[in-house]
Amino acid sequence: MNLIQHYVGGNLISGSSDKKGKVFNPATGEQKSEVILANKTDLNKAVDIAKKAFETWSMKPALQRARVMFKFKELIEKNSEEITELIVSEHGKVYEDAKGSLTRGLEVVEFACGIPQLFTADFTENVGTTVDSWSLRQPLGVCAAITPFNFPALVPMWLFPIAIACGNTFILKPSEKDPSCAMKLAELLQEAGLPKGVLNVVNGDKEVVDAILDHPSIKTFSFVGSTPVAQYVHEKASANGKRVQALGGAKNHAIVLEDASLEQTTNAIIGAAYGSAGERCMAISVVVVVEGVADELCKLLSEKASALKIGPGNEAENEMGPLITNDHKNKVIDYIQQGIDSGAKILLDGREHEMTNKPGFFLGPTLFDGVSPEMSIYKEEIFGPVLSVVRVENYEKAISLVDNHEFGNGTSIYTSDGEGARHFTTNTKIGMVGVNVPIPVPMAFHSFGGWKRSLFGDQHMHGPEGVRFYTKLKTVTSRWPSGVRSNPEFVMPTMK
Ligand code: NAD
Repeated sequence: MNLIQHYVGGNLISGSSDKKGKVFNPATGEQKSEVILANKTDLNKAVDIAKKAFETWSMKPALQRARVMFKFKELIEKNSEEITELIVSEHGKVYEDAKGSLTRGLEVVEFACGIPQLFTADFTENVGTTVDSWSLRQPLGVCAAITPFNFPALVPMWLFPIAIACGNTFILKPSEKDPSCAMKLAELLQEAGLPKGVLNVVNGDKEVVDAILDHPSIKTFSFVGSTPVAQYVHEKASANGKRVQALGGAKNHAIVLEDASLEQTTNAIIGAAYGSAGERCMAISVVVVVEGVADELCKLLSEKASALKIGPGNEAENEMGPLITNDHKNKVIDYIQQGIDSGAKILLDGREHEMTNKPGFFLGPTLFDGVSPEMSIYKEEIFGPVLSVVRVENYEKAISLVDNHEFGNGTSIYTSDGEGARHFTTNTKIGMVGVNVPIPVPMAFHSFGGWKRSLFGDQHMHGPEGVRFYTKLKTVTSRWPSGVRSNPEFVMPTMK
């Protein structure tokens, strides 16, 4: 059995814990590896190493840190096939989707290559006579991130490239369900010239997350995962004085208006709802459609969802792979039953798909019509290939549904009316908004984050907000007097 250790101080280590987790290949249902789950002692050692590495890494000129990122970018490109295969074999998403997610991560590395430019300071000459003032950003110390299973390369890459380029050192605790990508990325970053101890991967579960939350030397805490855990870690990390950003779950709505192109809209929604088996925080899980086009849209969605090719991610013809674990598959099946029991009309039942009874954690696509806001399948995040259609009379009812939902990660509107779309983008209470774009994930040079119970904390991830999150601001006011002052001064130098 393959054993996944930790990557600390530039070495593979086992640590002192004998607790292990199981890593499956979701397409076969077989256990692929065991992962060691660290304890508090292991974490403490990793933090000591990261603290020591900070002393020298933080003093390196930004240009030198950027050079490591340039080399890292090259190595990711060179090893992209291997990393993509790791994503497919541990997460289950189809090859092209997995490759696309790695590319989105690579774009953050490209952004981090620009750190010398991102670090240029504001400077004001002569704020008072012969007095100059400037602001600069400095790294904070040891930063930590806890990441989810659904993007095993991309979500860690939202975080550590920017933190490290800014001069911090890092502890990454990836999901224990698919930890191998994080290990590979750490190895490549070291090959790119990163000094040992700057990026450390500590594998584990809640025990090590709690140790991270309590460790006084960890300055920032980034979390991406489900909302109950996001809320918990946000409260605990904040109480412990850390800078924290905790991204949670989602229930993303697509609004379809009468003037939308239905064929194009359907194609976009099918990919956004069932791609990656619905295990995306930006997946569309609710379609809010105005009555006039609802029948036609449901017909098209049903036809296209039924035609989806489902199977192992490493077979090129497949469009949707399995779910992450059998437990998760059962949870999604339970939601399908809840939908039926609460009176929603099932147009396509994923439990009846032929792949559902094959080895692996497969489940076919499910489509519900006639879903209403009090149903659990509407209110809760299912995180599987289940799409709910809610029919409304008009746009006003549609936007009010979006805005009154507990989650606020992403949304999109399908229309050919520019003025209506603009009303929506201006007024909706959601963090990431698309117009005729189903999954409006911001590019690496913008920042990613939701509103409401999809994000606890103030700052979004990567892009300019990422640089702000991983640095602290200092402002210097400086005077070089040309002669020795003979008397004490009682006015501010800038007043002269
Ligand atoms: P999860 O919350 O179960 O786990 C996320 C991380 O937290 C893992 O590393 C896990 O080991 C750790 N963890 C789990 N339970 C914990 C606990 N009780 N205390 C401390 N740590 C704990 O999430 P998941 O199942 O891995 O991922 C799916 C979730 O992530 C979905 O809700 C999805 O919407 C969300 N997600 C959100 C975004 C976003 O940007 N908002 C992006 C990706 C995924």
